[in-house]
Amino acid sequence: MRILIVEDEVGLADAVSAILKREGYETDTANDGISGLELAMEGKYDCILLDIMLPRMNGLDVLSYLRVKENETPVLLLTARSETDDKIKGLDCGADDYLTKPFSMGELLARIRAMTRRRGIVPDINPKYGDITLEMKKGELICGRNSVILGRKEFQMMELLISNAGQITTKEQFVKKIWGTDDESEYNNVEVYISFLRKKLVMLHSAVQIKTRRGIGYCLDGAK
Ligand code: CA
Repeated sequence: MRILIVEDEVGLADAVSAILKREGYETDTANDGISGLELAMEGKYDCILLDIMLPRMNGLDVLSYLRVKENETPVLLLTARSETDDKIKGLDCGADDYLTKPFSMGELLARIRAMTRRRGIVPDINPKYGDITLEMKKGELICGRNSVILGRKEFQMMELLISNAGQITTKEQFVKKIWGTDDESEYNNVEVYISFLRKKLVMLHSAVQIKTRRGIGYCLDGAK
């Protein structure tokens, strides 16, 4: 398992690298956005830890460029507390997860394990609900002739909603299944991704809606 660390705080990059190596990962480190992007484009990494505020090219631009070039390596954004807006932008540009600095190494390792585990085997069956189909291999949500690529977390959330069709999926279930934690502070993320999914359903002109059951969770509606 090879991990790329793109972080301009050299002390932090070195500390993270040392701990990952101790855990059995191979690591490479870049201290600015351009060198990070060049390494990332080689496509040999299982995971990229990407700081947002970087010299030469910021982390969000690096991430957008990778995704435009169809490099789908899982990306964990490292953000400072003051960069909340960037965090949302980052998720929108295709980051898989983010971690707010300062973070504990235990937390970092847990996120890396969760992200890489989720890259596992892709089943052959495409889940359906109403007029929508989740294309597992391409990571697309399809409605009639329209289709849209879902981000990794959006995809997992839609998969969970479809597999729980007819019942409510609670925020706790999303957080447990997708973030691999039961930390209530992740509940806001669930709301953010639900809003992304709702926008995409509208874009697809689907009759399917994600209904909020206040205080409980979400469920799909609109199958005939
Ligand atoms: Ca930085």
